[in-house]
Amino acid sequence: MPDASAASLSSRPLPQEGGRRDGGLEIGNTDDGNRKVAIIGGGPAGMALALALHQQGINSDIFDARTRGAAKNDKRILALSYGTRQILERLGVWNGIPATAIDAIHISQRGRLGRTRLTARAEGVPALGYVLNAGDLAAALDTAVAQAGIPYQEKRKVGVGDTAQYALTAWAEGVVADDAATVRDYDQLAVLCTATTHEPHHHTAWERFTPDGPLALLPYGIDKGNQYAVVFTCSTADATQLAAQGDADFLARLQNQFGTRLTFTAVGPRISYALGLRYRENIVAERQVWIGNAAQTLHPVAGQGFNLALRDIWDLAQALGDPACAGDPGNATALANYVACRRLDRHATIRFTDGLTRLFSNDFPPLAHARGAALLALDLLPPLRSFVARRMMFGARAW
Ligand SMILES: Cc1cc2nc3c(=O)[nH]c(=O)nc-3n(C[C@H](O)[C@H](O)[C@H](O)COP(=O)(O)OP(=O)(O)OC[C@H]3O[C@@H](n4cnc5c(N)ncnc54)[C@H](O)[C@@H]3O)c2cc1C
Repeated sequence: MPDASAASLSSRPLPQEGGRRDGGLEIGNTDDGNRKVAIIGGGPAGMALALALHQQGINSDIFDARTRGAAKNDKRILALSYGTRQILERLGVWNGIPATAIDAIHISQRGRLGRTRLTARAEGVPALGYVLNAGDLAAALDTAVAQAGIPYQEKRKVGVGDTAQYALTAWAEGVVADDAATVRDYDQLAVLCTATTHEPHHHTAWERFTPDGPLALLPYGIDKGNQYAVVFTCSTADATQLAAQGDADFLARLQNQFGTRLTFTAVGPRISYALGLRYRENIVAERQVWIGNAAQTLHPVAGQGFNLALRDIWDLAQALGDPACAGDPGNATALANYVACRRLDRHATIRFTDGLTRLFSNDFPPLAHARGAALLALDLLPPLRSFVARRMMFGARAW
């Protein structure tokens, strides 16, 4: 939970005249008396929620501790599912974001038998997913928020109790900062970079499981068609050595980790992220809801973090837009409906991501054989393969 700081709303005068104005900031109510939603955090999740609420005719104010536009500098490269593209299209932010389509995903484990390939063609969709810059996504969301006229207060760190005048406070502050959260430390770090290969990528993504953790290669950029975004997972102990390595050594390490199906010729600058699982059991409380990374922070192994967040956000906006809670988007019934509707997908996605990480990040022989058998079964059974593909694209409710 964020703490109230010197810059927080609570440090400013309490709103006067029914909670309308505070130093020029309109808070709590709209001019026609309808109560608003306060969104704490103007990252991708917060901005997407504001847009989804706007489509439901619900007004919100976004508050972010950072300078507006800071998220545009996010250097990460994301894999978003086809289902996420559909939601972003409905929010009016998809067109114009440079994105590379993923037509196929090749899944295997290093040094062991078993592999499978998921394809867009088999699933009857234009692409399984898309690879794009997190900064470009943030920029598109920011533009749409501005065009919709949604108030965005930058450099406003908001704490508990600061937003009591709102119908609902949506915490989108990016971290599960709650003592009651469930936490799992994988003792892994993700090293992110781009890599160039001798071969063209042909819009194929590679997910390779190794005892050190998963290695993902995402087709990136359309210029020459031979670049990948790399998510290289390693143990925390290994990370210090990796950080100190020069490009040539890292290139050799990447090649060794991946195998011989591609030949790497160059790597770009590396950035690293600590990995873990943190999630809140309860994503709503009285007139409060938690979304995005504030609700759950997942291992990026299957690229599910923002995909799950966006499905949550879409369903939350539908629940709050129910005519039964007109004028009060913090209504307890609407929040209970939201929780019920998200339970299956949320828990299944958390379990799927966690299970994948733990099952595939070790070299215990019986497990390695079981994994090989599972990959073989996936390869031989198209309905099972389709189940996994659709699950990754649309979440657990696709079935
Ligand atoms: C290495 C890595 C790779 C990933 N890859 C993928 C992927 O391929 N596909 C995918 O779907 N997801 C992926 N994710 C997950 C994805 O990045 C997150 O789901 C997404 O960034 C979450 O956005 P958010 O808005 O919840 O949080 P954030 O982006 O962290 O935004 C939180 C915002 O809240 C603000 N804030 C914090 N505290 C306060 C406060 N008290 N008051 C006001 N403002 C506050 C911050 O300034 C910030 O702007 C990945 C994550 C990692 C770490």
